[in-house]
Parts: sequence; C-alpha cells; structure tokens
Amino acid sequence: MKDKRLYSPKYIREILDKYGFEFSKSLGQNFLIDGNIVRKIGQEGNITKEDYVLEIGPGIGTLTEELALNAKKVVAVELDKSLLPILDETLRDYPNIEIIHGDILRVDINRLIEEKMAGGPIKVVANLPYYVTTPIIAKLIEEDLNIESIIIMIQKEVAHRIVASPGSKQYGSLSVFVKFYTQPEILIPVPKTVFMPQPKVDSAVIRLNIKRDLPEIDREIFFQVVKAAFSKRRKTILNSLSSNSWGLDKEEIKEVLKGANIPLQERAENLKIEDFIKISKTLPSLDIY
Ligand code: SAM
Repeated sequence: MKDKRLYSPKYIREILDKYGFEFSKSLGQNFLIDGNIVRKIGQEGNITKEDYVLEIGPGIGTLTEELALNAKKVVAVELDKSLLPILDETLRDYPNIEIIHGDILRVDINRLIEEKMAGGPIKVVANLPYYVTTPIIAKLIEEDLNIESIIIMIQKEVAHRIVASPGSKQYGSLSVFVKFYTQPEILIPVPKTVFMPQPKVDSAVIRLNIKRDLPEIDREIFFQVVKAAFSKRRKTILNSLSSNSWGLDKEEIKEVLKGANIPLQERAENLKIEDFIKISKTLPSLDIY
C-alpha cells in the first residue's frame, strides 16, 4: 500500500497541475487538505471491513482513500469527467474502490446498492457540494433506500438548522423534514481553512442515523402542514394554517388544532414533530383532499 498523502496540499497541487485541472465553483469543488479531518471522518463513520460505502463526489479521492482503508468496498459517484483520469492515478492501489461517472441526483441508488453493494445496508459518506446539499439529502432519506447512516460535511449554518430543536431560531421546516426520517447529530466542526480552494463559510460534519419505523401517516399532507406552518413563522399556528389555500376556514382549522391538543396561539417554531403529526392526522378526516 502506498504512503497516504492525498490530503497533502503540495501533492494535490502537483496532481491537479499534471492533468491541467481547473476547479469548478459551480460544482462546489473545495477539496480537503487536512489529514486530521479526513481521518476523523473515517473514525466517526465507524466503518469496518464489513461495510459497503457510497461516497458522493470523491474529488481527487482524498476521503475515498481513507474510506477504502477501512471498508469492504467503496463505490464513489463523481460528476466531473475531468477528475476521472486523476482518480485512476490517485486510487490505483485500491482494488476495493469503484468509481462511477454520474450525477448522484440522477443515479438509481437502489440499483447501485443491489448490483454493486450486495443489497446493503450501506453507509453514505460525503463532503457534499454545497449547491445541492438539500436535494441530495432529500433523495437519500426519502426514497426508502437500504441505508444505515449518512455522514456528510455540509455548510455549518445548514448543519445547525438540521439539528435545531423547537424553540430555537434555526428550527424550521428543514429540521422537521430531516428529523422525520433520521436522528441527526453534529459530529465535527470544520473550519474553512482545511479546503482548497478556501470557501467563504465554515462547515460541519453531521451524521444522520436513518429511522427504521416511520409513523404511518400521509407524508404529503404532513409536509404540506409543516411548510404552511413555517411559511409564516411569526404568526400563530392558527393564522398560518388558516391563510393556506387548502380550503378550510378558520373555524375548521380551530377544530383541527383542538383535536390535536395544540393551543391556538402557539407558533410553528415551538411545535414538535409529534404535534405536526397530530395535526396532519386530523386534517384528512375533514375530507378536503
Ligand atoms: N470528496 C472530495 C474532498 O473531500 O476533497 C471532494 C469534495 S468537493 C466539496 C465535492 C465533489 O462533488 C466534487 O468533486 C464535485 O465535482 C462533485 N460533485 C458535484 N456535484 C455532484 C453531483 N451532482 N453528483 C456527483 N458528484 C458531484
């Protein structure tokens, strides 16, 4: 096995120059150049020789190498074609890595798990391109894939919004959405200085532990309620739900809230996921959908 050195800024510059690689801002290309952070992500992922890991956006392979040292197999999906010859060189000593050229938002992940990762359950690890953080998270958690956990580096502010609890300023529809499907936790704060090129904002690594038993509710109604409630977060829950266009007048919304044991003057930012679930369970009984 070769010396581990993919996170060395000097080596990264050399290899990028050799292939005439230009960073693409629009693809969110900020590569890790700090060995400590790379190793920490590997450790926090609790990755063992039994594990199949899906990596999104390997870049030049810095994190991929760390994952491959610990996992049974790493499948990495990279969108930028110009990185493929670089990855061929940087990761050539690792037979347990498979690189796939593609856009993770278009890839059939279920098929990938079935065909290349023994059906799962798999772990997902990624330093995500910021421009598609939310759609990628949504795809991973909404599609009922055989995923055990997701460890991702994202913008610090977004990480804080995801883990926020009721009553806090950052708590919003993103927190409820992610917490409906997972138990999120912040693992590692990451300063912007550990990337090349350096982004404007700091990051954090978070882990999303996928929940197995989701409440049996109509998710479409649930997320409509959450969206409506937070779209007017300064208003009372009664007013924000009443001003939505789903055809219920204020008196009917009052009944829904009373049925769910929610004070009419409460604000969305103080409601727990269970409260939103109670509201959405009561709504369909009014036969409006
Ligand atoms: N993992 C590397 C690291 O930590 O140094 C690179 C991380 S960089 C923030 C994000 C990577 O994702 C880039 O290599 C970029 O080309 C790739 N990427 C961007 N959009 C993508 C997409 N939709 N599907 C797959 N890869 C994508």
